[in-house]
Amino acid sequence: MDEVRPSDQMRNLGVVQQGAPILAERARPFSLPADHDAAEQAVERLFTSIERIAQVHTFAKGMGIAAPQIGISRAAAVVQPPGQGADAIVLLNPRVTEAAVETDEQFEGCLSFFNVRGMVPRPLRITVETTNLDGTRTSKVYERGLARLIQHEIDHLDGKLYTARMRPGVDPISVEQYRQTGLIYSCQASAQADRLWRHQVHEARGLSGAERGARQ
Ligand SMILES: [Zn+2]
Repeated sequence: MDEVRPSDQMRNLGVVQQGAPILAERARPFSLPADHDAAEQAVERLFTSIERIAQVHTFAKGMGIAAPQIGISRAAAVVQPPGQGADAIVLLNPRVTEAAVETDEQFEGCLSFFNVRGMVPRPLRITVETTNLDGTRTSKVYERGLARLIQHEIDHLDGKLYTARMRPGVDPISVEQYRQTGLIYSCQASAQADRLWRHQVHEARGLSGAERGARQ
């Protein structure tokens, strides 16, 4: 049976794929409130796209999509945080106004080249300013995974893919390799838990009088 590759699956759902010039362009900001209708339309289309993608793929760590990825070169993106019932974050003209010095490095995936995953260093905390439909501005602080998701989308609006943020000499790995890495991690974790358990059982026995007596 032919398996549909993750990238093909996203392409079939209308996600613009790596190599398309629109992904390397800076998206045009909205002039709000004048561009109210255009901004609203872009956001609606992003939500429609997220719903379609969610039907074929589960995102345990949340997901996001930027307007250029659905062929609209305007500064709009939507991020869906992980967890059921979490409110989506709409980003219009987003920009990072402050970033923590502390960083961490985690695997990221991108719907525009979904066959691979790459280790990307990012600040652990950012302040993001966005424009509301009425033209007012809002600033919010985001941390860790959510900060990472939002930075990934803001990069799209600047015409940048996560590969540009990876450390030199580090390459993305295939999604199959990535899944194996996860498996190895969970095996190590369970082996460690097993050792800890055995150690505790041993200690408990060591403390019991019967055991002490038997050892004499
Ligand atoms: Zn992406």
